[in-house]
Amino acid sequence: MTSTENTENQLLISKGYMVHGIIRRSSSFNTSRIEHLYQDQHTGKGKMILHYGDLTDSTNLVSIISKVNPTEIYNLGAQSHVKVSFDMSEYTANVRFYQASTSELYGKVQEVPQSETTPFYPRSPYALAKQFAYWILVNYREAYNMYACNGILFNHESPRRGPTFVTRKITRFVARIALGHKEVLYLGNIYAQRDWGHAKDYVEGMWLMLQQDKPEDYVLATGETHPVREFVEKSFKEINIDIKWRGEGLDEEGYEEKTGIVYVKIDPKYFRPTEVDLLLGNPAKAKKELKWEIKISFNDLVKEMVAKDIEYLKNNDQY
Ligand code: GDP
Repeated sequence: MTSTENTENQLLISKGYMVHGIIRRSSSFNTSRIEHLYQDQHTGKGKMILHYGDLTDSTNLVSIISKVNPTEIYNLGAQSHVKVSFDMSEYTANVRFYQASTSELYGKVQEVPQSETTPFYPRSPYALAKQFAYWILVNYREAYNMYACNGILFNHESPRRGPTFVTRKITRFVARIALGHKEVLYLGNIYAQRDWGHAKDYVEGMWLMLQQDKPEDYVLATGETHPVREFVEKSFKEINIDIKWRGEGLDEEGYEEKTGIVYVKIDPKYFRPTEVDLLLGNPAKAKKELKWEIKISFNDLVKEMVAKDIEYLKNNDQY
C-alpha cells in the first residue's frame, strides 16, 4: 500500500466505509503504516480488510472484486496495467472507479499553470505508464458509460511520504540535525519547482470525485509552486537554522552563517536524465465543481513533517 492509500483508507473509514485493500505477499509482514487503521475497527465506524493480491495478476483481481462487489474502487497503485476488471459484466454499471493520475503527465510542461486541458508531455517511464492508464480510463468511460474519473494530482506529501522523495528526505535529515547528528544532506536539482500539497486534502478531493452526478477528470493542486531550495530553507527554519546558499552548480552548498556549518551539498547522482523542472497546477475546476478547498498550507505541511520526524526519531534510535 502506498502512503496516499493509507491516508485515503483513513478518510473512508472515518466516513463509515468498509474498506478492502490489496497487499502483496512478502516474507516479512510489512503493515506498520496501517496498524492504526486496524485499531479503528474498534470504534465501530468502519473496517479495513486486507486481501493478498497483486495488480499485475488479473485473475486474482477479478476474484477479489467478484467476492467484495465494491461500490467504489480507488486504484492508487503505481502500476499501469489495470485494464482488467472493467470487463466484469453485472456489477460494472454500479461501480465507481478512481484512477490515480499524476501531474508527472505534464512533464515538460506545455503551459503554466497546468489544467485539465493542458497537453501531456511525459518525461519518465513512470509518467508514460500513467498516460496509458489515463487514456484507457477515458476510453472505457466513453465506450461503456462507466463512472470512472482520473484525478490528476500534483505532489501530495505527509509525514507518511516515502523517505526517498525529496520532501521526506529533507525533513528526516532536519530531524537528525535537531537531535544532534552531524551530517550533510546530499540533494540533486534544488531548483526544481513543485506544487506541493498535503495528502489529507487530496484524499478528500478523490472521494468527492466519486460522489458527483457525472464522472469527469479533475486536477487537484494548490496553485502555488516552490523550489526544492525553499523546502530546505523552511524545514531548517523549523529548528531555528537559517540556511544561506553559496557557490554554483555542483559546488553549490547550503550553510548556516552564524556557525559556518555546511548542511547541504549537491550530488549529481540525484539528477534525473530528463527532469520535470516546474509543476504548477490550476485547481479551478475542482474548486468550482467539487467545492474542494485546500485546508493545509505549504508552511503547515513543512511544519508537520519536521515535527513528526523529530518525534519519530526521538522514539526510535534506528530511524
Ligand atoms: P516527483 O516530483 O514525483 O519526482 O517527487 P520527488 O520528491 O522524488 O522529486 C521532486 C523534485 O525534487 C524533482 O524535480 C527532483 O529532481 C528534485 N530533487 C532534488 N534533489 C532530490 C533528491 O535528493 N531526491 C529526490 N527524490 N528528488 C530530488
